[in-house]
Amino acid sequence: MKQIQFPYTSKDALVHDLRRINQWCQQNISSCVLFEIYSEMLDKTSIDIVCSTIKSEMPQALYCGATTNGNIMLGQISKENICIVCTIFEYPTTQISIMQREINENNSVDVADEVIRFAEENKWVKAVEMVVTIRNISTSVLCSELGRIRKDVEVFGGGAFASDIDEHKAYVFSSDGGCRSGSVVFRFLGGEQLHIKTMQITGWKTLGSEHTVTRSKGKQLCELDGEPAYKVYYKYLNIENDRNFFRNSIEFPIVYKVGENTILRAPIGSLPDGSLMMTANVEEGVKVRIAYGDPGTILRTVKAGGDEISMFQPQSIHIYSCAARRFFWGDMADTETLPFQGIAQTSGFYTSGEFLRKDGTLIQHNVTLVIASFREGDIVYGHGADFEMQGIEFSKQISLISRLANFINVSTQELEEANKKLEQMAVTDGLTKLFNRMKIQSDIIQSISDKSQQTALIMIDIDDFKKVNDNHGHDEGDFVLRGLSDMLVETMKELGINGKAGRWGGEEFMICISGSDALKAPELAEEFRVRFNNICFKNAGYQTISAGTALANEDDNTESLCIRVDKALYTAKKNGKNMVVTM
Ligand code: GH3
Ligand code: MG
Ligand code: MG
Repeated sequence: MKQIQFPYTSKDALVHDLRRINQWCQQNISSCVLFEIYSEMLDKTSIDIVCSTIKSEMPQALYCGATTNGNIMLGQISKENICIVCTIFEYPTTQISIMQREINENNSVDVADEVIRFAEENKWVKAVEMVVTIRNISTSVLCSELGRIRKDVEVFGGGAFASDIDEHKAYVFSSDGGCRSGSVVFRFLGGEQLHIKTMQITGWKTLGSEHTVTRSKGKQLCELDGEPAYKVYYKYLNIENDRNFFRNSIEFPIVYKVGENTILRAPIGSLPDGSLMMTANVEEGVKVRIAYGDPGTILRTVKAGGDEISMFQPQSIHIYSCAARRFFWGDMADTETLPFQGIAQTSGFYTSGEFLRKDGTLIQHNVTLVIASFREGDIVYGHGADFEMQGIEFSKQISLISRLANFINVSTQELEEANKKLEQMAVTDGLTKLFNRMKIQSDIIQSISDKSQQTALIMIDIDDFKKVNDNHGHDEGDFVLRGLSDMLVETMKELGINGKAGRWGGEEFMICISGSDALKAPELAEEFRVRFNNICFKNAGYQTISAGTALANEDDNTESLCIRVDKALYTAKKNGKNMVVTM
């Protein structure tokens, strides 16, 4: 594989370069020639000149390209508006094919079907590189459908963009179609001797507390924690819901996990109602956090990825890097791309959305670096170049960001733990550690209101408990209360009963049993009674309890059921105590 990267300056200069390339191809062995064209400008005229010149000078060559938020040439952002990467494949088995299609949300399934069929009919296909104009469509359907492609096919790519991040227009073009928006170009690559390795590098870290997506409609993220989604950005980062929302939030994507895949999604704008527009769907129920970029972490992550890529001994590398990363680094954006040029010819562009298939799932990412590396022929041992990175030691100021983020994360964690403890305390009875009355009452209400299941109550009162206090002291009384409580919990656990035990007051207890176990309430109450009979307390010796049980019928509400179980208990007391009465 040979690669030449050069800017487009004029038609004459391009003709001159193409003739030299053509000459080289004729004097050497080559299987196919591919031109990739990247344009920072939405300049159809110049793009058309480049395409038609390639077509007339090298009709056998394939070409494709996109408008971008920055062209990466030789590992760095190019100052030229239009850049051309010419790759000459040398192995006769290497094959490339290009397919360009119109894309919208209604035809995603058909387009994906065609790609899948192509890979099925052409066993040489090892990878599908996809460049798509992304801004006005959701790629969710396209991605999920393309996930069905032959398992051994790598799928990766990026979203076309423009130099102005607020611009919604973008173009893709190829030898299979004109310069269009609402369009996708697939590049099929493969053959026995072409090897491809892909990787996703992020380096962004989560920040602060977790939020639940409580409402979403496709790409529109409506609510987080029941509030308009932008409020999270406003509250924690002071980002207002205005025209600059995209610019201000671009470095702070949301991050969440779907299975093993970590997904970063940056909002591309906010609506007047506080909803956020994303570039792909975010499902309801998903738990997200805000993520932030820390230069030290990012560069260490890139270094680890680069080391792995260098082992593969690539001859060329494609980088699809999110425009948010360029925005994040400012003048230093090349820091994370230039080191790749040290191991192979590196080109690519700054994207709106990056695609990578991992474990069979094709996901559209944001704020991510998708790296595709290529090699023709087998690995030559001892030939790999080291992935060297400059400036991996960082200034004190940079590590301050990471320390502050750590401070926030640890504080958040401590708060979350403290909150959990408080929540626990708010529903727990201090002496017995059972649920308190408020909690058991609300559990009864909840159980009864669920008409799909049965509910039963057991109400327990210790017999002649006053005497325990009078004869053995209040501490021994407490000891008996705890003994009874522990026995209730242990018995239900041992018998696998779906019940909740609460302290109703003084020496009275309520057990709420839901589901099919409700029918076992009388037996269970009897079990409690017998077990309690057999406990010998240190000073108070053997004690007894009385219990009432009641099973809710269709007409019962919480009040009527509680009255009935109380009556049952009263009857047990009246009839001589140490017994169970069911009503
Ligand atoms: P009965 O068999 O009719 O239920 O008689 P009893 O003596 O158990 O009932 P009564 O309602 O007359 O007395 C309940 C006693 O429980 C009175 C109160 O001092 C005691 N008690 C209530 N809460 C606690 C507590 O937290 N600790 C202790 N040690 N005693 C308590
Ligand atoms: Mg009592
Ligand atoms: Mg009592």
